[in-house]
Amino acid sequence: MTPWRVGGTPDAAGSLERRRDIMVREHLAGRGIRSQAVIRAMEEVPREAFIPEQLWEHAYDDNPLPIDEGQTISQPYIVAYMTEALELGVSDRVLEIGTGSGYAAAVLSRIVATVHSVERLEGLARSARERLDRLGYSNVLVHEGDGTLGWPEHAPYDAIVVTAGAPRVPPPLLHQLAIGGRLVIPVGPVPEFQLLVRVRRLNEDEYRTEELCGVRFVPLIGAKGW
Ligand code: SAM
Repeated sequence: MTPWRVGGTPDAAGSLERRRDIMVREHLAGRGIRSQAVIRAMEEVPREAFIPEQLWEHAYDDNPLPIDEGQTISQPYIVAYMTEALELGVSDRVLEIGTGSGYAAAVLSRIVATVHSVERLEGLARSARERLDRLGYSNVLVHEGDGTLGWPEHAPYDAIVVTAGAPRVPPPLLHQLAIGGRLVIPVGPVPEFQLLVRVRRLNEDEYRTEELCGVRFVPLIGAKGW
């Protein structure tokens, strides 16, 4: 992995690393993230590398931040929470819907074997792909398209995570989940806020849904979304 250095000076890089440590300790471990794999991944991935330079000083605030095309990079706590909720294993193949900056895909890639990430906006898909390649996240594949249809070519997936709010769970995602697989997705009847749910595939025909917490994501737009 290419080491990432910010601002060209060791001081600036050191200060961001310190803020990353504090963010992990206070906002993640301090708020109940227990998975050591998730904590390690969040310690390792430099969030500043996924946001515009003028926002670097806010890289480790526990907030979503704006990226291109009116979209957002999610709040670190929510990235960690959703990643933990996926109950990942090292050999898992994961599908992420909503690549955005590529940050959450990078975090996932530190834990599992392969991440397929789908983004509907061509410009974001291209820049995330270039960024992930440059930073050395070689087990992430970014696809451009409507993620409400999943990505059937590489199905089934051990885990699927959707990082945009859907009106209901898109059926193609259920079909592309492996038996025993977990789908974590924000759903709700209005585009502004959602309930985060985890759907577990029990067998060929049965799924079990658990409600996790209230969240606020940009809308999932597509054939089976808004
Ligand atoms: N995971 C991202 C990150 O780490 O930066 C944050 C994702 S942002 C909150 C939601 C993303 O979902 C946006 O980039 C948006 O364009 C994308 N999106 C919305 N509808 C989509 C769809 N049907 N298929 C794929 N991506 C979609």
